[in-house]
Amino acid sequence: MDHQIWMPYCQMKTSRAPERVVRSEGVLLHLNDGRKLIDGIASWWTACHGYNHPKIVDAICQQAQEMPHVMLGGLIHEPATRLAERLSLLIPGQDNRVFFCDSGSVAVEVALKMATQHWINRKVVGKNRFVCFQDSYHGDTAGAMSVCDPVDSMHSQFKGFLLEQFPTRIPQNEMEFSAFRQFLDERRNQIAGVIIEPLIQMAAGFRFHSIESLATIEKICREFDLIFIADEVATGFGRTGTMFALEQAGLKPDIVCVGKGLTGGAVGLAATIATNAVYEPFHSDSWDNAFMHGPTYMGNPIACAAANASLDLFEQEARLTQVHSMEKLLNSRLEPMKQKSCVADVRCKGAVGVVQLTKDVAVQSAIDFFVDRGCWLRPLRDTIYVAPSFTMEHEQVVTLTDAIGEYLETL
Ligand SMILES: *Cc1c(COP(=O)(O)O)cnc(C)c1O
Repeated sequence: MDHQIWMPYCQMKTSRAPERVVRSEGVLLHLNDGRKLIDGIASWWTACHGYNHPKIVDAICQQAQEMPHVMLGGLIHEPATRLAERLSLLIPGQDNRVFFCDSGSVAVEVALKMATQHWINRKVVGKNRFVCFQDSYHGDTAGAMSVCDPVDSMHSQFKGFLLEQFPTRIPQNEMEFSAFRQFLDERRNQIAGVIIEPLIQMAAGFRFHSIESLATIEKICREFDLIFIADEVATGFGRTGTMFALEQAGLKPDIVCVGKGLTGGAVGLAATIATNAVYEPFHSDSWDNAFMHGPTYMGNPIACAAANASLDLFEQEARLTQVHSMEKLLNSRLEPMKQKSCVADVRCKGAVGVVQLTKDVAVQSAIDFFVDRGCWLRPLRDTIYVAPSFTMEHEQVVTLTDAIGEYLETL
């Protein structure tokens, strides 16, 4: 490859050179040779208002001129205080505390560390492990990896490096729930909390679970006095049809992680939001009880300004309505593909449409096929998925789904 970048999720030896992008605009990526691609995955589901939204660009430019960055240690600023206040009000619970960081993985690390120290500060000994679920993805740092699907995140390869957690399946019926209850009961003295991606487990396979399952898992956490962590890094900011997926199940999580769409896809920023009850044991006369964590760029003013502008857009423009129409459109275009023998399942929720095949997709040739048709899609294992900007036009969505239909014809 003719560049020095060590690419993500990539076998550098056998992979083809990546496409070169020179400009983004709306839902389009302009390549250096003049081609344009409709981005069907919104840069890992971040660009919820499309690229280069003028309100977000303006907010970034203005903030860059005033103050690009100051450390948050001992200093605060308006973009961060305003964003923290807005986030704390968007999440259920009174007096929520917002801890800023720079990526979703770190937001998860912070959540795990907070939950563990919560018990230490309360002088409850030995509660330092987490229940997590098959097919989950919570990030690529060590703590986050330890709560990901054990197979996908290669726990066996990283044995000795990763913390050992308690992975289990998401219970879906009465029998599985009674097994889940027993699973928790046997380990209750070791469990700090339970972490889940609410409603859609995204990166590890785009699996959905029911609102009822999700609500029951939280209820059982309450029975066992466990910290319930909702990782909304992917599902937050409208992706599932509500501002947060937790709203649909009426959840009141103890800790919520947000990232990805927080800045409308413009700058890296994430946050871990804790209820007052989680925060309480940290608030004491002893330094030992303080939370010793602080990413250098936490609460970066440019990122916070972008996030505030993005939240303004959710207030001013009918984003969630667009997500609802997107769900209908994706459903009507993808559902008929279920008839094909190479298709195992089709499912849509919010601005996520998934075509799951009966076997793994030949990823590079599929990507080439889509690029030839002016579409940017990156199949993942056995799924071809779309997760576009909520502002994408009807015809552009149809171009994407038609390309998927054509691809299925070649199988
Ligand atoms: C992407 C993702 C993360 C990790 O976020 P990064 O910003 O890539 O570190 C964590 N949790 C979920 C649910 C995600 O989708």
